[in-house]
Amino acid sequence: MFQRHRRLRTSSTLRDLVRETQLSVDDLIAPIFVKEAIEGKEEVSSMPGVFQHSLASLEEEIEHILSLGIKAVILFGIPSEKDELGSQAWSDEGIVQQAIAQIKRQAPHLIVIADTCLCEFTSHGHCGLLDGSLVDNDASLQILGKVALSQVKAGADIIAPSNAMDGFVAYIRQVLDEAGFQAIPIMSYSIKFASSYYGPFRDAGESAPAFGDRKTYQMDPANRMEALREAQSDQEEGADFLMVKPALAYLDILRELRQRSSLPLVAYNVSGEYAMIKAAGQNGWIDEKAVVLETLLGMKRAGADLIISYFAKDVASYLQD
Ligand SMILES: [Zn+2]
Repeated sequence: MFQRHRRLRTSSTLRDLVRETQLSVDDLIAPIFVKEAIEGKEEVSSMPGVFQHSLASLEEEIEHILSLGIKAVILFGIPSEKDELGSQAWSDEGIVQQAIAQIKRQAPHLIVIADTCLCEFTSHGHCGLLDGSLVDNDASLQILGKVALSQVKAGADIIAPSNAMDGFVAYIRQVLDEAGFQAIPIMSYSIKFASSYYGPFRDAGESAPAFGDRKTYQMDPANRMEALREAQSDQEEGADFLMVKPALAYLDILRELRQRSSLPLVAYNVSGEYAMIKAAGQNGWIDEKAVVLETLLGMKRAGADLIISYFAKDVASYLQD
């Protein structure tokens, strides 16, 4: 006597009936890079198919995203002027603030998530303010609060702090609440590993650190228990979503977080994961479409409710077919 598992696999219809996990366009968040003072759009060399947009080309990009049925975007900005404090990150005329306002005018129902960090805006490329060669946690919070508030005032629907400072959820929550923005959710980059998979993003966001690395604020990839502590403190501080970044090499973390938290979970399918699949696909070494769908399905199966992915537009169009 043995089990006949193959009974449930005999036809595609039957396989549809017993399928446990579905990928839907509602799961997708599309990242967008907006750059100040460029004409049109410029392709990111390490991320074929991903562009830095001007405010003019952004309009066309949003049109495309809407036509695919995608419901949320996350914005990253590249200013033309960077300084020690990252002051363009909280300027009311900053590139992100302008882009948010423009998108909300064009597509009021599209959810605009603002990434809240300083690395694209500081001359040193770190995610907070420096004290010597170290990032000063509490001084950085003061600035990040200002960034979040200016993004919300420009029209952002969700604030997504990615800076990996301790206490950023509590601090930003307090700043938003005091300004009357109690209804704005915080999507926390709760579990953010110091990963080599971020390489291509640094080309796209022009945000590589000028010296050192981010290992004093982002997490050691070896640490599982610490990751769970990070997520727990963000949840206690009032986060509305928890994120795991990167996704692919950290699906165990995602699964464990799923078992411990009832908050919506977000997986960030990062730039290096995109670049690897894209490169192999372009070389004809893998079936890109099939691998993309399988990869994102794996993130959902591990426990993600939402996926931030540079493949969002591709996946949305595959799902339409
Ligand atoms: Zn950063």
